[in-house]
Amino acid sequence: MGTACQISGCKNEAPPALTEQRLCVLHFTLALETNCSEMRRETALGNAPHERQREIMNSSPSTGKSWRAVATSGLHLTDDLKARIFETSCAMIS
Ligand SMILES: [Zn+2]
Repeated sequence: MGTACQISGCKNEAPPALTEQRLCVLHFTLALETNCSEMRRETALGNAPHERQREIMNSSPSTGKSWRAVATSGLHLTDDLKARIFETSCAMIS
């Protein structure tokens, strides 16, 4: 039926909005956070031009488009997860 999450050992299924990424909501959120912290780290070091930031986002399994799809797909996300997704995505856009 559903698409299994690509993270080995994870028993969750990827929601329709994330079948392309093959990530469950939890691992999608984690991926976002990882990208975001990587970006913040490079920015803090002063060596992250916009091009590089775009590169990180584009090479990641979780583009801005994906999180928007997830956030608006009517999935049953906990408030905590929603807050994390929005917090992370806002940090990416700014
Ligand atoms: Zn997973």
